[in-house]
Amino acid sequence: MTDTLTRYKEHLREIGKLSSSLALLHWDQRTHLPEKGHAARAEVIGKLAKMVFELSISDDLGRYIEELETRDDLSPQDKASVRVVGRDYRRHKAIPPDLFEKFAIARSKSETAWEKAKAASDFAAFRPHLEEMIDYSRQFAEYYGYKENPYDALIEDYEPGMTAAKLKEIIAPLRDALVPFIKRLGEDGTKPRTDFIRGSFPEDKQQELSLHALSAIGYDFHAGRLDTTVHPFTIGVGPGDVRITTRFLSDDPFSGLYSSIHEGGHALYEQGIPDELRWTGLDDGASMGIHESQSRMWENMVGRSRAFWEFFTPITTGVFSQLSAAAADDLYRAVNVVEPSLVRVEADEVTYNLHIMLRFELEEGLINGRIAVNDLPQLWNEAMDRYLGVTPADDAHGVLQDVHWSGGMLGYFPSYMLGNLYAAQLFAAAHRDIPGLEEDFARGEFSRLLTWLREKIHQFGRIYDPIDLLERVTGEKPDSKYFIDYITQKYSEIYKI
Ligand code: ZN
Ligand code: ZN
Repeated sequence: MTDTLTRYKEHLREIGKLSSSLALLHWDQRTHLPEKGHAARAEVIGKLAKMVFELSISDDLGRYIEELETRDDLSPQDKASVRVVGRDYRRHKAIPPDLFEKFAIARSKSETAWEKAKAASDFAAFRPHLEEMIDYSRQFAEYYGYKENPYDALIEDYEPGMTAAKLKEIIAPLRDALVPFIKRLGEDGTKPRTDFIRGSFPEDKQQELSLHALSAIGYDFHAGRLDTTVHPFTIGVGPGDVRITTRFLSDDPFSGLYSSIHEGGHALYEQGIPDELRWTGLDDGASMGIHESQSRMWENMVGRSRAFWEFFTPITTGVFSQLSAAAADDLYRAVNVVEPSLVRVEADEVTYNLHIMLRFELEEGLINGRIAVNDLPQLWNEAMDRYLGVTPADDAHGVLQDVHWSGGMLGYFPSYMLGNLYAAQLFAAAHRDIPGLEEDFARGEFSRLLTWLREKIHQFGRIYDPIDLLERVTGEKPDSKYFIDYITQKYSEIYKI
């Protein structure tokens, strides 16, 4: 009789291979698929996704997990695999299939209703769907189980080990530092000049710039590729194949560049996950937040640093002759403008976290029944004014702007903020470990940082939970002080306050 561990691994490899095919179909769907192919493609993806889901909740897999959990002869890696795969398995099995099926149908209707409601800026049309999504989320939380707050059961999908209580502790000092700091920047600060980067910037030139930056930070083009799409994403098709996408705006030379570096940061993480973890359930990021910490670090802490622009200015002015008069300092300042704005996805690194805090406070209130969906638009607008001093003119630019709630994804938003905070905490640790990091960047040399990230984070995949991983690397639990220090130092200087 074949050993259970062997059969367990074979089962995961089967899931891995199907998931890899699925990923390739998804990538193609969002990059090169001709318009008329979409309907049939959706069916093929649906079929494959169902096969993967069935394998991931199969009774066989349940039996393997149960037996392997009692064995003490497993390697640490196999033990981690059983722990992580077992956790996912139990969450999948916790929801009764008929409830999940009803949810899937309601979700699909809700997403369609949201799209229309957003286009018409009509919150009332979306309200019943949102109420339904929250009701499902609450039911799911009960099935998943939790200690003190049903919200904790939901965030577990994205940040294992994180809770609403911990988030509140992390958020309070961050909010107290950021809100007055942003006000000061607006009132007393000198806004950087951006007038010299107006004009028209051809897409092929922008692409050239992105390729330069991605090569410099160490993205392996023999194990991936860059394409354009509408909403940029990174996708691991399989080992040796981690693809990134970006999009270019013709009137902005750097929006596409930073989108490329952001996705490049995600891709460096996945390219750094070792082959031994392939198809074991461990071949992914430790959490959404840790994943986002990698993209944010490369995008903002590296890509928007002064040192980076010392290296990148001659490349940029070589590609765009209309920028030939720009100095490194001009470009550095121009890509670091702070502007309180209505829309999260357009927010700069200073104001971004306030958009997330607002969403966390509201969704946590919704899940706990302290907030009624009916009051949401007004509460949203009040919080925007309190945090950022801006008020949406309509709900399309307010409470209706994000897709997440329409798909029942409550508990997702904090990962974005945690990504920024983790990035700052990890970056501070990298600076302690590696002297002269900024001098490296100024020479276009990023390999010491990448090697450090590979050793400390990438090589472990999902072996450690996010908070444990952060503590191993930095010696501390998640703490917003590193982000606060980073932001206040950087922007006090840029804004001359
Ligand atoms: Zn292409
Ligand atoms: Zn990202």
